[in-house]
Amino acid sequence: MDLNDHIEKILWTEQQISERVSELGSQITQDFKAGNVVPVVVGVATGAFLFLADLVRKIHLPIIVDFIRVESYGSGTVSSGQPTISFELKVDVRHKHVILVEDIVDTGSTLSCLIEYMKSKGASSISVCTLLDKPARRKVHFELVGEGKYYCGFECPDYFVVGYGLDFAEVYRNLPYVGVLKPEMYE
Ligand code: 5GP
Ligand code: MG
Ligand code: MG
Repeated sequence: MDLNDHIEKILWTEQQISERVSELGSQITQDFKAGNVVPVVVGVATGAFLFLADLVRKIHLPIIVDFIRVESYGSGTVSSGQPTISFELKVDVRHKHVILVEDIVDTGSTLSCLIEYMKSKGASSISVCTLLDKPARRKVHFELVGEGKYYCGFECPDYFVVGYGLDFAEVYRNLPYVGVLKPEMYE
């Protein structure tokens, strides 16, 4: 069975994602070009790897790129609600502007954990750039730090989505679009 046949419907095509990522990159370029400190763009592994790769090529400024890993999901579609950092930053973010790059903000608990961590490391501002946001499912409130800004690619309806980095049991990350799995794929 072809990978595409696992998908019930496509929510955002490769083309739509690419256009939106360019807009986000331009916005970030505008917002950070005045600063004299090089921003640190932190991708949240593994889900943000494609988004991060595409986004940073649309930011026309000197930036530092790093990764962090947070575990909260297990292999299912329901969050355990207790995120922990399982792979630390390489870069020192003290007195730096951090831009956290996420695949999706769902309950908000992962982001809240990451913001607290970046704060504890002394970041002077914390922004968030997420490809998708499911505001209907928010449970944990989070606050940006300093002059931090919130960038969002698309508001996501309350489906479990896969593709463009997002997985189901670690599969489907390599789809070039974001879509909804056929129900039989969960079984
Ligand atoms: P939160 O902590 O906000 O509840 O969840 C954030 C993480 O849960 C995301 O970074 C992502 O890894 C995972 N997640 C939440 N919703 C979805 C979804 O619809 N599809 C996939 N594949 N992962 C999701
Ligand atoms: Mg994520
Ligand atoms: Mg996942």
